[in-house]
Amino acid sequence: MSATHLMQTYAPQPVAFARGDGVWLWDTEGKRYLDALAGIAVNGLGHNHPVLVRALAEQAAKIIHTSNLFRVPEQERAAERVCALANMDNAFFANSGAEANEAAIKLARLHGHQRGVENATIVVMEKAWHGRTLATLSATGSRKAQAGFEPLMGGFLRVPYNDFAAVERLADNQSIVAVLLEVLQGEGGIHVADAEYLRKLRALCDRKQWLLMIDEVQSGIGRTGKWFAHQWSGIVPDVITLAKGLGSGVPIGACLARGVAAKVFKPGNHGSTFGGGPLVSVAALTTLDVIEKDGLLEHAKAMGDILKGGLERELSGIAGVKDIRGMGLMLGIELDRPCGDIVKRALAAGLVTNVTADRVIRLLPPLVIQEAEARQLVAILAPLVKAFLAEAPAAAAA
Ligand SMILES: *Cc1c(COP(=O)(O)O)cnc(C)c1O
Repeated sequence: MSATHLMQTYAPQPVAFARGDGVWLWDTEGKRYLDALAGIAVNGLGHNHPVLVRALAEQAAKIIHTSNLFRVPEQERAAERVCALANMDNAFFANSGAEANEAAIKLARLHGHQRGVENATIVVMEKAWHGRTLATLSATGSRKAQAGFEPLMGGFLRVPYNDFAAVERLADNQSIVAVLLEVLQGEGGIHVADAEYLRKLRALCDRKQWLLMIDEVQSGIGRTGKWFAHQWSGIVPDVITLAKGLGSGVPIGACLARGVAAKVFKPGNHGSTFGGGPLVSVAALTTLDVIEKDGLLEHAKAMGDILKGGLERELSGIAGVKDIRGMGLMLGIELDRPCGDIVKRALAAGLVTNVTADRVIRLLPPLVIQEAEARQLVAILAPLVKAFLAEAPAAAAA
């Protein structure tokens, strides 16, 4: 296989998957793998879900794309459905997480300008991940991802994550129009915000008339055992962004808004040729239907507990294992040293996993994972981590 005609933006593992079924994948050589990554929190329903496959085939046979110059009934239904689940008033559909966040950033700026704020500024977090377009890269808290793409976009103020005092110190800044954050940071290394922190942020945003914008691109659509991770804290944001799990692999992103935020955009302010087309909207509707009908929220929570419990039993307290954390089926095992090699070792053992932030093994299995499969995941991964820690020098650990 030659990759010479692809721009070198990725460094793929030398494995290609030919088909999948549930939590299982088969590569082009016929080898089977347990999927603990779900295409980076995308394939919540697992692979080849019969209800999704049928719905997509039926829609493809009717109509795939028409553009937003016309009404798209499937899009209107998807908006109604996802807004009801999220307590939001309306939705804008894009094609990725970055685009969902672009919409949120534009919405916040326009809201600011409508209120007479000249230099509309958005508070963002250290270790945040919001995408790789220039605006979302500027909002992202990774110098590694940003390096070389300067000048970055202005209009963002960065504070430490989960540190309310750091945001409160900005309360007198008249340029601030919004706060944008993940309630559970994914790419940044599985960092969980406290419910109390989120409630204080909500109250501060109310007091200052700032929009509270939650990036649920990775943590949303059942991943943590609720529809959206922020629902564990009881807060209701002004803006929510979604993507990864929403279309089960069909590219769709969404920016949801409520109250004043829902009234900001007028015709001509924002748009997307592909956004919310019939096919992707059916993918989203079907994904939400299956999660609801199959009770996958409760299931994801239960499986997450089993998985985390198993990992803790096997790995907690072992030298080199710093922490095991996360919510539902969005879990991280932090080691004391860079551990990218775990991905290769896991693949060799028939397990698809991921390492983020250099030293955090990230687990994002499909929501449909069963108990026996969760136990199998632990049984494959735990010995591998122990062997890695025994062999790989901790010298590089800082
Ligand atoms: C993946 C991710 C994004 C970017 O989504 P893309 O579809 O890759 O553009 C944004 N925010 C969060 C929290 C993510 O995990």
